[in-house]
Amino acid sequence: KKLVSGLSKTRNNIVESVDNIFSSFSSIDEEFYEELEETLIVSDLGVDTTLKIIENLKEKVKENKVKDPQDVKQLLMEEIKNLLKIEETEYAFENKKSVILVIGVNGVGKTTTIGKLAHQFKQDKKKVILAAADTFRAAAIDQLIEWANRANVEIIAQQANSDPGAVVYDAVAAAKSRKADILICDTAGRLHNKKNLMEELRKINKIIEREYGEVHKETLLVLDSTTGQNALQQAKQFKEIANITGIVLTKLDGTAKGGIAIAIQSELQVPVKYIGVGEGVEDLQKFDAESFVEALFA
Ligand code: GDP
Repeated sequence: KKLVSGLSKTRNNIVESVDNIFSSFSSIDEEFYEELEETLIVSDLGVDTTLKIIENLKEKVKENKVKDPQDVKQLLMEEIKNLLKIEETEYAFENKKSVILVIGVNGVGKTTTIGKLAHQFKQDKKKVILAAADTFRAAAIDQLIEWANRANVEIIAQQANSDPGAVVYDAVAAAKSRKADILICDTAGRLHNKKNLMEELRKINKIIEREYGEVHKETLLVLDSTTGQNALQQAKQFKEIANITGIVLTKLDGTAKGGIAIAIQSELQVPVKYIGVGEGVEDLQKFDAESFVEALFA
């Protein structure tokens, strides 16, 4: 229920316009497909993804000898679900000693997401440590400390402009001595200087490998869904510099652009693992493609 309510803006946008097409057409012709295509693009599914969906849909309609436009809806939903099927969607960090690097540009909801994750893991009786390795802004460090207090987890932080590698080094030492289950590292997201960012992530990864030994590593990219197609572009840029293992799509509660989740996952072939549906500590959900599509279209 929470999922549907968190997505209500996107849902209202999509359901109404899609249902409109299905009920206003009496036969499945080229014009029908054109309208559907336009609607999906306007709903932020992206051009490439939409074209793929329409192409597959046409085949399915032929194959199944569908005549009534109303019957296309079910096929459309199945097509999108198929498109969202990707192999690596497991949440391995829940069961293994893990380090989660969190990346993303300022303002997307990176700090909030880390706070929410820390809270969830803590609720699951995990020992969590945070590392404030985005040392560029003092305010960001303070904010993360606040979230750590709220979630009641330990945080390793240094002053602004200190070396992110040094913070991670300290955090790994703390994680080892306290036998932490999950170490979550906030890291910089300065996309305008890709080379520096890449170098910084490389250093952090090296320190983790050298100091922490056998540990599961995850890199979560946080994206702001309200920016629609920009989020997709950002994801593509980050994919060039980091080995992203999952995406967190924030602020879905405040936007009608939730369709971007479908575009991002199908175009990048990286699983959306969580969605943010509010500012509160509980407002983070695991992303499930099936129920997401149901919530938006059914
Ligand atoms: P950061 O700069 O990337 O660390 O971004 P913050 O975590 O500080 O978040 C920026 C703003 O977005 C804050 O006002 C958050 O409360 C808000 N925010 C983050 N996630 C969500 C979400 O899922 N839904 C809503 N409505 N707001 C969010």
